[in-house]
Amino acid sequence: MAFEGLTEKLSAAFKRLRGKGRLTEADIREAMREIRMALLEADVSYKVVKDFVARVSERAVGADVLESLTPAQMVVKIVNEELVSLMGGANAKLAVSSRPPTVIMLVGLQGAGKTTNGAKLAGYLKKQNSRRPLLVACDVYRPAAIKQLEVVGGQLGIPVFQMGQGDPVEIAKAAVSHAVQHGNDLVLLDTAGRLHVDEELMAELKNIKSAVRPAEILLVVDAMTGQDAVNAAKAFDDALGIDGVMLTKLDGDARGGAALSVKATTGKPIKFVGTGEKLDSIEPFHPERMASRILGMGDMLTLIEKAEQSFDKKKAAELQSRLRANKFTLTDFYDQMVQLRNMGGLSEIAASLPGAAGKALQGAKMDEKIFTRMEAIILSMTPGERENPSVLNNSRKRRIAAGSGTGVVDINRLLKQYELLQSMAKQMAGGKMPRGMPGMPG
Ligand code: GDP
Repeated sequence: MAFEGLTEKLSAAFKRLRGKGRLTEADIREAMREIRMALLEADVSYKVVKDFVARVSERAVGADVLESLTPAQMVVKIVNEELVSLMGGANAKLAVSSRPPTVIMLVGLQGAGKTTNGAKLAGYLKKQNSRRPLLVACDVYRPAAIKQLEVVGGQLGIPVFQMGQGDPVEIAKAAVSHAVQHGNDLVLLDTAGRLHVDEELMAELKNIKSAVRPAEILLVVDAMTGQDAVNAAKAFDDALGIDGVMLTKLDGDARGGAALSVKATTGKPIKFVGTGEKLDSIEPFHPERMASRILGMGDMLTLIEKAEQSFDKKKAAELQSRLRANKFTLTDFYDQMVQLRNMGGLSEIAASLPGAAGKALQGAKMDEKIFTRMEAIILSMTPGERENPSVLNNSRKRRIAAGSGTGVVDINRLLKQYELLQSMAKQMAGGKMPRGMPGMPG
């Protein structure tokens, strides 16, 4: 998968900052040098790297370190935010026409993955957005391209419109009429590609564009070609004007340079990524998720921000002293659950935690029903049991289960969550992120 090398090198750079109570300008300069190298080795374009490092550096030197973060974590936080903004901030959606059908024109060089990913996109929008797509074969130069589109369309149960080797402009127009008549609210035009951007191709694409006025011109580029993909994006945008990019073969791209450079170089966002040869290997592109994947740390920073916003400082201090005295009881657990519920629900938080803790908590949907059951269990315990849950043997558990109208399984599950939260809360109350998260300096 993408970014392996980058993730490794960035964590090495952050690691060196760890354990420092204060960062000097020299520390930051050294870290920035390493970040610059890491990005260049990932094939991010030179100018993008230069601007990126300058921004991070400026913010890192002037930053007020948040009370709950170490300086090293603060640098990670800044790098994370700048990576997100580099990739466009939020997920960019496809345009939709106010009057159906919405026409999406797929363009790109030969072999970029236009035909396959056009079909994937049609399948995705059919499934996720209940659209009724029509795939259109406008690549009239390669008979095999028409056949290929029919094959993938067939596999996805999506109709394919074709008129053999005719005029692509006429085919596009006829396809739109066909869609209107047959109730297809989405038309995806699979246009011809060439090995290089050339005038003839651009002229043809411009003619199709002015004939059918697509809501969206989506450029398909191959992530594995790195900076060539970025150059293609720039050339297509200059000549034709594109609205967004679909980055394919991300599964085979070990470096990630294209993903990080496209938006900054062309101003046009990546909207979808192709992640495999299978017809369901497509995902909307989410800069935040991609950034945390690059940093290898789940959505840890989001979690910390949330915790900061809604953690009651006084309660946290109380909790901290109880933890020091090794007295995190089930009553405290109950209080914490209430706080977590205020933070937006346990499962949402669990989903942003990397590693085993996140997985283990993910099933624990914090809905009212479970909350009530948990309350009943805790209230069925004696004060002594609440203070010291380790005394809970099987016969006590059976008694509590009977008293709370639950089962021993429920009690065990609660105890498991209690233990997990106990270790999480210990670290949060210490004012630090949970340790042992990959890529996170502690
Ligand atoms: P076109 O010439 O632009 O229409 O490209 P195709 O759709 O024919 O794709 C070219 C090759 O790339 C095919 O072998 C596809 O199976 C492969 N391909 C397309 N998308 C992906 C992807 O996301 N991951 C991988 N691994 N292969 C892909």
